[in-house]
Amino acid sequence: TIMANRLALEFEQRRNPRPRTASERAAILDDPGFGTNFTDHMSVATWTLADGWHDSAVVPYGPFAIDPATAVLHYAQEIFEGLKAYRHADGSVWLFRADQNAARFARSAQRLALPVLEPDDFLGSIAALVAADVDWVPSGGEKTLYLRPFMFASEAFLGVRAAHRVTYCCIASPAGSYFASGVKPVRIWISTTYTRAAPGGTGAAKCGGNYAASLIAQQEAAEHGCDQVMFADAAEHTWLEELGGMNVYLITTDGEIITPELNGSILEGVTRDSILTLAAEWGLTPVERRISVAETLEGLLSGKISELFACGTAAVITPIASLHNDEGDVVVGSGETGEVTAALRKALMDIQYGRTEDTHGWLQRV
Ligand code: PMP
Repeated sequence: TIMANRLALEFEQRRNPRPRTASERAAILDDPGFGTNFTDHMSVATWTLADGWHDSAVVPYGPFAIDPATAVLHYAQEIFEGLKAYRHADGSVWLFRADQNAARFARSAQRLALPVLEPDDFLGSIAALVAADVDWVPSGGEKTLYLRPFMFASEAFLGVRAAHRVTYCCIASPAGSYFASGVKPVRIWISTTYTRAAPGGTGAAKCGGNYAASLIAQQEAAEHGCDQVMFADAAEHTWLEELGGMNVYLITTDGEIITPELNGSILEGVTRDSILTLAAEWGLTPVERRISVAETLEGLLSGKISELFACGTAAVITPIASLHNDEGDVVVGSGETGEVTAALRKALMDIQYGRTEDTHGWLQRV
């Protein structure tokens, strides 16, 4: 329900009395890794059935006290987002299409029967956190401040129903490249043993349960010498869907750039959407349609499909070197990064890091 003239939540800053020193921070920003270091603050807000959203603030980073009966630990009523703050050469700090993450967070909340955090409050929580920890936004290379908003059922109650108490939080983590190996093309295992999401399920929502379900398939991929797993659809095991944490694209020699259509079980990636726009501007033909595993393998063998890549916020664009399944292996092109893949990756990052004009209005200054 949308209330007219509602007041936005305030994220007042309660500064951390014991922040890391400038030299401790510099050492972390020098080699941040991914997802292991966190800034000095986090944004929080609480929702209760009786009072709605309240108690919003930026507070010192630290653990939650969790009752063992907290609903999320039992029934996984949880959602999250992932986006980045980029430092430009002039020192300014920017978000990339954060409104899209806000909208997706609201859609995920609806699917998981969680309360919607209004997009303005989502964006306000992020702006306040980035402002408090702006010195943690690294500069140079592929470094960013990765932002992780999430929401979970924090009511201590073992009944199976939507929680009456929910906690929202956003944490921030300085990040280098997502894959330790950099942009090296990855080997992909196509799983037919496991699926990630089914029609009517939660595949289009960014909820923790989807990732829990994908881990064993990721292990299966590793057992076959692959870096990542590609999921096919649950009903027929026929149609390409996506990787555990990235969407997928195919490029054909006749100028088509194809991605599986949004069918309700694929996550609607912000990177995926941005590529649809950029590709069209470059005179490629973006196509969203069903594409089968068989058609993909045949296209690679005949040479009709020249490039394959995965895309998502964390790793931007990752070239795919080869596909593997129970029947064998197929190399993509020469197995090296394709020309269009490399050009798209550069174009996207040039926008994100302010090295080229933002003609789409995709950047918001923090
Ligand atoms: N699919 C899945 C399952 C993901 O977790 C992600 C990462 N959010 C993506 C696709 C890519 O989405 P985005 O481009 O918005 O990061």
